[in-house]
Amino acid sequence: MSNLKTAMVGTPCQILAATKINRYENETGGSPIDVKIGLFCMENFSYSYLEKYLKQQGIELYEVKEFRIEKGKFIANLIDGNVFEIPIAETEPFTRKNCHICTDYTSDVADISVGSVGSDKYQSTVIVRSKKGKEIIDDAIEKGYIIAEPLSKKGQKLLETIANRKISKNTKTYKKREAVARPVLSKRAVSEEEFIEECKLCQFENLQNDVISVGSCVLCGACEYVCPIDSIQINRRKPVLVNDCKEDCHACYFACPRTFISNKIYPENIDEKPLGNYLELYTVRAESIIGQDGGVVSSILVYLLENGIVDKVSIVSEDKDAPWRPQSHLTSSIQDVIAAAGTKYSTTPIGFKALNNDI
Ligand SMILES: Cc1cc2nc3c(=O)[nH]c(=O)nc-3n(C[C@H](O)[C@H](O)[C@H](O)COP(=O)(O)OP(=O)(O)OC[C@H]3O[C@@H](n4cnc5c(N)ncnc54)[C@H](O)[C@@H]3O)c2cc1C
Ligand code: SF4
Ligand code: SF4
Ligand code: SF4
Repeated sequence: MSNLKTAMVGTPCQILAATKINRYENETGGSPIDVKIGLFCMENFSYSYLEKYLKQQGIELYEVKEFRIEKGKFIANLIDGNVFEIPIAETEPFTRKNCHICTDYTSDVADISVGSVGSDKYQSTVIVRSKKGKEIIDDAIEKGYIIAEPLSKKGQKLLETIANRKISKNTKTYKKREAVARPVLSKRAVSEEEFIEECKLCQFENLQNDVISVGSCVLCGACEYVCPIDSIQINRRKPVLVNDCKEDCHACYFACPRTFISNKIYPENIDEKPLGNYLELYTVRAESIIGQDGGVVSSILVYLLENGIVDKVSIVSEDKDAPWRPQSHLTSSIQDVIAAAGTKYSTTPIGFKALNNDI
């Protein structure tokens, strides 16, 4: 592996995959991801279904200036000044169904988590979780990249309420699903020893049976990234095996965020802690960058690059041939980071695809 150090921005499931890849690096080969910035996430959307849905409403994706989720509404601000909005409950036709079994709202295993809920418009809520995350935020404040104040009690309460809502709704869904289908493995509490024992029995065939064919795949791209012989390819819908497996390799099963998870990664009582474990809670805005909310994620990425803490960062910009289709890549360019600010509300094999292609 190269000595490159990178920062990754991703949804909670992607951050979990990055955590597994690095923790079990003997099995997966590890990754250069050194700083994990997790986004809050209630659900994600299918690009093709979103496109189809908007078309039915007479809107083409290239006509959309910005998507926002605010006060229970999914909003598309159009370039011509018109606004299309529907209650979140009506986004069902384009929501990815695997999101309904996910109970991590605030990226519990990131170094730093960022979202809008809990803070005023054009500010972001920041959860500092690790010692590394704290050093980054303290120094970024000190050097003037971001302006932070403690999260208000009201903001914290709202954030906890929404995180608890996701936990309770999706716990019901995965339990219902388990009654008629196979267990949702990522919700089994297993010890580190059991985790390693189980994973060592599994190859792609098991990933196919336990995750992909039961509709649990989040399309994160971690399996494709760790496969040592490039036997996995992710098409737009799912990972597929294109060659035979290597003997005694279990990398994809170790890395996947939807297989078993050891209680060393998520403690067994994590669903009782709506915000996970953390050190500090802030309301933050960027000094100069305009982003989806406070521009905080982009500012932290700029801070990391300008101060030599990482060599490259993974960002998600738009596919130049398909408006709003997320495309991830690695960059060391500040201009690229600033241009990629803003949320693209659909899924993509974030960072991992970029790590494969751009290193
Ligand atoms: C699918 C999804 C669902 C979300 N749901 C919620 C929610 O329920 N509640 C909430 O409070 N916040 C949610 N967020 C987070 C919110 O939209 C903002 O990303 C966050 O508040 C950071 O804003 P910012 O202005 O600091 O970031 P900015 O400075 O605008 O930077 C945004 C960063 O996110 C990256 N990015 C853009 N699209 C994606 C993507 N699809 N996947 C991964 N990275 C991406 C960009 O590369 C950029 O680095 C969600 C984000 C996503 C991607
Ligand atoms: S599975 Fe869906 S809801 Fe959960 S973190 Fe991933 S994108 Fe968000
Ligand atoms: S060789 Fe097979 S088991 Fe190993 S990572 Fe690739 S697909 Fe998975
Ligand atoms: S099967 Fe692959 S792409 Fe799907 S969730 Fe698991 S690691 Fe991610």
